[in-house]
Amino acid sequence: MTELTGLPAGNTGGSLRANRIRLLAHELVNHALDFFFPPRCIRCQRVGSLLCSGCQALYAPPAPLIEPGSPLAECRATAQFEGAIRDAIHALKYENQRRFAEPLSERLSAEFARSGWQPTGITAAPLHEARLRARGYNQSALLAERLARSVGIPYRPDFLWKIRDTQPQVGLNGRERALNVKGAFRASGNATNQMILLIDDVYTTGATLRECATALLEAGANQVWALTVASTKQRDVVDSPPMT
Ligand SMILES: [Zn+2]
Repeated sequence: MTELTGLPAGNTGGSLRANRIRLLAHELVNHALDFFFPPRCIRCQRVGSLLCSGCQALYAPPAPLIEPGSPLAECRATAQFEGAIRDAIHALKYENQRRFAEPLSERLSAEFARSGWQPTGITAAPLHEARLRARGYNQSALLAERLARSVGIPYRPDFLWKIRDTQPQVGLNGRERALNVKGAFRASGNATNQMILLIDDVYTTGATLRECATALLEAGANQVWALTVASTKQRDVVDSPPMT
């Protein structure tokens, strides 16, 4: 399988090359689709892009989040989880509209440029193999891969994988979410001494990201940051104490 699907197996030179060729083929198909069916902005319907620059500008990043005692050095998001951002994530995640990875990863690149972080590798919150097979791709891996390419930092799907299938986090409270993902991830020795940027689509309680970061640090990573497209945390509570 390939990095397009987010499976961590592909870290040999040959499979990385195959992945790259597959990604280019996907882009070629997308360009052809754009020609015959020009993209329209998901919010204002203007022709030209899936999320136009005017609408993108409506959504500003919330304040960076540093939680005391968290395995994550810092969390950033490009927007609150609302409006066109929410719709675009939904399309990417549940409607098989992988093209939304492009405008959303551009938002990640812009926020990454503001962060001052200097990761040695970028990876994505992994899906369990069963979920991956059902959906066909990992939306966070699509985002991470594009971000890595645009900022020139290695994309490393080999760092982390999900060893236990968990029930969807939707509908669970903070404590239930933390329990649901506890011990669900394992990192590889490849993460040792790495400075890692972890990508996910949405920060809700941060349970998944913290659990991923814990696995990476246990495997010997030096530092882990997290960047998501959106955060459900409200501006007025970004400084509230973390959940215990
Ligand atoms: Zn628009």
